[in-house]
Amino acid sequence: MTLNPAPNSFRTGPDERGRFGIFGGRFVAETLMPLILDLEKAYADAKADPSFKADMESYGTHYIGRPSPLYFAERLTEHLRAQGPAGQGAKIFFKREELNHTGSHKVNNVLGQILLARRMGKPRIIAETGAGQHGVATATLCARFGLKCVVYMGAVDVERQAPNVFRMKMLGAEVIPVQSGTRTLKDAMNEALRDWVTNVSDTFYCIGTVAGPHPYPAMVRDFQSVIGIETKQQMLEMEGRLPDSLIACIGGGSNAMGLFHPFLDDRDVEIYGVEAAGHGVQSGLHAASLTGGRPGVLHGNRTYLLMNEDGQIADAHSISAGLDYPGIGPEHAWLHEMGRVTYLSATDAETLEAFKLCSMLEGIIPALEPAHALSKVMELAPTKPADHLMVLNLSGRGDKDIPQVAQIFGQTL
Ligand SMILES: *Cc1c(COP(=O)(O)O)cnc(C)c1O
Repeated sequence: MTLNPAPNSFRTGPDERGRFGIFGGRFVAETLMPLILDLEKAYADAKADPSFKADMESYGTHYIGRPSPLYFAERLTEHLRAQGPAGQGAKIFFKREELNHTGSHKVNNVLGQILLARRMGKPRIIAETGAGQHGVATATLCARFGLKCVVYMGAVDVERQAPNVFRMKMLGAEVIPVQSGTRTLKDAMNEALRDWVTNVSDTFYCIGTVAGPHPYPAMVRDFQSVIGIETKQQMLEMEGRLPDSLIACIGGGSNAMGLFHPFLDDRDVEIYGVEAAGHGVQSGLHAASLTGGRPGVLHGNRTYLLMNEDGQIADAHSISAGLDYPGIGPEHAWLHEMGRVTYLSATDAETLEAFKLCSMLEGIIPALEPAHALSKVMELAPTKPADHLMVLNLSGRGDKDIPQVAQIFGQTL
């Protein structure tokens, strides 16, 4: 379904109402509207202020550890070349976001939002979290800047993700288990939105992905775009030209948007997003909103969602708690319909294979989330010519997943 002619630029969105084509927007209660407008204005001011950019760069360097390396995955490249036709097989690079402080790309966005909250004079930060990675990143920066931090987390996730709950508490955050609905991420986000309307004056809502009402999808994308900007520069330095393809996993879609956005108008660059297919898209047990969902409204924006026949939001399933969201950022929904980005999906089983391979061949234990994208690299790379440069966004490290993977492989720790 193509709703719009291809635009001159894929990088100009959203429009003034926060829309990417028919997606995005701000479907919020009237009581929330003044807060959203306030935030939009504060963000526009910050974007135009060189001191905000300077702070982002300074903390980015000294606190997060940026720039993250662009690394040639030599043994993986050779291994996959040996699988395909002779003389063929892409040269594979990892953008190493797993080396950031707190172990994933999440912190790039949190830094931006926390610096913005400080500018706005908001002393209390709230966040939603599923697997706990965004909660940990938020708790970390709140500790660093002496801000009060409240994290909403589905009660089911509180139980599943005990180490991250403990981390957040160590960092001084209050973790509130959410008992409504399916007691997972989407319910935590509803609860955080409810908190925000009731604590108007002192509270800043730090959203963890490119979802929510405008301006969040665009703002979070901008903060994550450092990934793509660095990649472009690093590839030019290493290979003297742009990459031929980019690939990233998608939960809400922030690490992917961050890598993709600076390249959207480089039309020769192929771009692939990888959703979580769980037990397979046909099984109904998955988190592939574009592949297996349809458009609707959730958390203040219109996008592709997993829904049952009555339009109720369905449960998402994935081996990876970080991809377990029944929606996807609205800009991805638009890029999907415009055909600029190709969206694939990877099953739990494919993901585990990639997880093992990366660990054994590169000495890097990836998080289960980017292992989804890596499993598609394993399929795509052997079909490409030998001079094809492919960049995988290695969005996080796998330490957090060790207990779960050990259990799946039947090992006790
Ligand atoms: C949270 C998380 C994701 C998924 O979130 P996006 O917004 O889609 O990037 C992916 N990888 C890691 C390591 C994460 O922690």
